[in-house]
Amino acid sequence: MTLVYAALFGLAFGSFANAAIERIPRGVSLNGRSHCDRCNRALRASELIPVASYLMLRGRCGSCGTRIGARTPVLEAVCGATFVAAFWALALTAAVAVAAAFVAITICLGVAWERRGA
Ligand SMILES: [Zn+2]
Repeated sequence: MTLVYAALFGLAFGSFANAAIERIPRGVSLNGRSHCDRCNRALRASELIPVASYLMLRGRCGSCGTRIGARTPVLEAVCGATFVAAFWALALTAAVAVAAAFVAITICLGVAWERRGA
């Protein structure tokens, strides 16, 4: 059961990392609902489910059809898998530390990547 929670937390933190990577370089607050960059529509709850929403929408905005980068579901899935691996292989405290460090490093690398050449 712990691994199911680890997967859900990993997916959720992957989703948070995506939001942070997109918002921090632009100076946008981490609070507030996610929205489409092109048509600016706030995403519905059904569009905020990690990986599943991307697959259901076939990688496009539900309103304007703008492509959503593959980084979004890939990062969510990788984060979910990393959390499962950490909680499977390590004691609880170490697993939490590894998971937290993974999210922090992912956000830092993602922000650096978004800012490249800026
Ligand atoms: Zn849109």
